[in-house]
Amino acid sequence: MSLLTNKVAVVTGGNSGIGYATAQELKNKGAKVVITGRDSDRVESAARELGVTGIVADVSDVSAIDSLVAKVAAQYDKVDILFVNAGIFQPAPVGQISEAMFDHQMGINFKGAVFTIEKFLPILNDGASIINLSSVNAYTGMPNTAVYAASKAALNSYTRTAATELAPRKIRVNAVNPGPVATPIFGKTGMEEAQLNGFAEAMQNRVPLKRFGTPEDIAKLVAFLASDDALFITGGEYNIDGGININPLLA
Ligand code: NAD
Repeated sequence: MSLLTNKVAVVTGGNSGIGYATAQELKNKGAKVVITGRDSDRVESAARELGVTGIVADVSDVSAIDSLVAKVAAQYDKVDILFVNAGIFQPAPVGQISEAMFDHQMGINFKGAVFTIEKFLPILNDGASIINLSSVNAYTGMPNTAVYAASKAALNSYTRTAATELAPRKIRVNAVNPGPVATPIFGKTGMEEAQLNGFAEAMQNRVPLKRFGTPEDIAKLVAFLASDDALFITGGEYNIDGGININPLLA
């Protein structure tokens, strides 16, 4: 029997990047998977490719999460694995942070995560696993990421409290902190291609293992935390970053 047979998994932002690879990994390990995303064409085509259920839901809209939960409950009844992955990266320097950008980024990365969990709680099985996709940026002072980093630091703090409060139901809550991972997220920032390439090269040089992560690298860790092999792990944070968070003084 596969590791996740008979488990129902929901992956927010599952039509692209890390979410897509994780949906694939969870399915390969035997789970029944639901992916969500904002764009109906993208969600539909990813769901078709993966052979999973696709549901459109914007995590920054609490009523959309309500309707997502109702649809998942109608089709699957209860959920065992909730991968809170949907997120955006909108770099801006301090001094040029607009209120709209702040609300948008916090609204998806932090408020969206909190209310995804809040609304799914009633249909989570006791013993379920929640994995929050954070970032090593929560711990770095990388230029232009003040609001993004804060949204992830808030998520990590929330993870610890939620882990304590949900422990009586044996629901485990953990955070995963990737370093740079090759996904479409950077192309959505509005940066020019040359700027993006320079950014990628500079970042890669800072990674002790000298490469970007792949979405599959992250998917494997998430699938482990979702499984019964991780039954004693809760309230934890896992860096998966090629060593970038070591911050070596000499490389
Ligand atoms: P991606 O752009 O490929 O995927 C992001 C997913 O989130 C997409 O499916 C998108 O549709 C979805 N999404 C965005 N806003 C949404 C909303 N309002 N409602 C529903 N879905 C929404 O990027 P990715 O790199 O795979 O990012 C996934 C997560 O990983 C994000 O939380 C991101 O912050 C985090 N992360 C990424 C990296 C990296 O280097 N790629 C590093 C650390 C953390």
